[in-house]
Amino acid sequence: MSPARGRAAAAAAGALRRSGGSAAPPQGRSRRRASPRGGAPAAAPAPPPARHLFSDPAEVEALRRNLLAWYDRCKRDLPWRALAATEPDADRRGYAVWVSEIMLQQTQVATVIDYYTRWMQKWPTLQALAQASLEVVSELAGRMPRTAEDLQKLLPGVGRYTAGAIASISYGQATGVVDGNVIRVLCRLRCVGADSSSPAVIDWLWDMANVLVDRSRPGDFNQALMELGATVCVPKSPLCGECPVKQHCQAWRRVEKELAFASQKLFGKAPPVPDVEDCGVGDCPLCPPATEPWDSSLGVTNFPRKAAKKPPRAMRTATCVLERRGCHRAPEYLIVQRPSSGLLAGLWEFPSVPLAQDLQEEKEREELADHLQAWMGRPVAAKGLQFIGEVIHIFSHIHQTYVVYSLHLDGDVTLDPALSPSRWVTEDEFHASAVSTAMKKVLKAHGKQRRKESSPVKGSKRKRGAKAPGAGSPCPGTQLSLRAFLRAPKGP
Ligand code: SF4
Repeated sequence: MSPARGRAAAAAAGALRRSGGSAAPPQGRSRRRASPRGGAPAAAPAPPPARHLFSDPAEVEALRRNLLAWYDRCKRDLPWRALAATEPDADRRGYAVWVSEIMLQQTQVATVIDYYTRWMQKWPTLQALAQASLEVVSELAGRMPRTAEDLQKLLPGVGRYTAGAIASISYGQATGVVDGNVIRVLCRLRCVGADSSSPAVIDWLWDMANVLVDRSRPGDFNQALMELGATVCVPKSPLCGECPVKQHCQAWRRVEKELAFASQKLFGKAPPVPDVEDCGVGDCPLCPPATEPWDSSLGVTNFPRKAAKKPPRAMRTATCVLERRGCHRAPEYLIVQRPSSGLLAGLWEFPSVPLAQDLQEEKEREELADHLQAWMGRPVAAKGLQFIGEVIHIFSHIHQTYVVYSLHLDGDVTLDPALSPSRWVTEDEFHASAVSTAMKKVLKAHGKQRRKESSPVKGSKRKRGAKAPGAGSPCPGTQLSLRAFLRAPKGP
């Protein structure tokens, strides 16, 4: 496989694995409600009041009709929609929607269109992708599962949202979807002001999406709801006046009532007391917390709400660029694969070990040397590790410091096959592999240090805590970009 092809395939593998990622709602969340700390099980909370429900079948029907009529009139012409509507082969149809969902979770529609078109030209079927990366689809034999349940169970990295989208759009399964746009629309429709990222609210929204989804046009309904969130019910300045479902929207009604109240007051009429209470039920699990009541200046954008973000957790990891001379004495580096779940799942990295905070340098070296010894099957002297510097990388929830060392190996090393997959790579192969942005920064820092050492003016010794050369400024996000996935191949 050519490096470019390998890179795209590896990136695709990463993308497919991650496709249940951050844009989709949390997966596999328990429907149990938390009991109070240390006490007896809490009494089941009262069901949320009618204000947060769609309990009138006539209203549900009207909402479906209005939303679908608007969608038929206003929907954007997008290549994956055309394929979903016209492709007769069910496997191709499901694959086409799957690819679009992965891409749409990473960037905006306008950016995705070109990438998507190129991707589908290059890998029009699951079989074509399988040839590029057996790692991704070898077990599927080119067949797409047909239901949301099977899609989630059988496709790597496909979560509840992606499974629901493929099943409803490609196979007409009447199952709802909840993504960021749907969360916003539903929270506004039913004045849900509790933390919209909490498991209880997410569960509630999934239930609501499943109640609302149109039974005869589920794929169109789901796309319409997402389209509404993307084009009308946008985060800031939503276009409520143009909204096809405003008559079903509790947030809009509340704004209208306040406006009516204000205008009557202005004209000196005795105004009725406005209905500005939430739902009249104390401790309602879906209303805004009492400490953050409705703010009239925000209007419908009072919803949705999220709990304040926690500051990122600080983590330190020792990592070692193990180097040897390969063919024609070109440097080669050892990379190992991360576990298939958790942070940076399945990506490749230099051998690394998490460190406790505030560990002495000597201890850090010893821990890294022990870790390397397990890989190499022979003792590694902690003092032999050369300190390169520190590389900072910011993940959404982690402030990660990589303490970078290097070690040059003479002679061959037998890697323990019982450990995680590992391999020696040249620099080009490293960049063609599914490695994180942070690891690229680490190699860059290592390269700069090497060049500095070999320049006529010898560099001074690096101090611990100093930023490594080439470490660059902290950069949020670590997923490989779509641009990287689809960079034009250099060879056939
Ligand atoms: Fe969103 Fe406004 Fe429509 Fe309500 S009326 S769903 S807030 S755009």
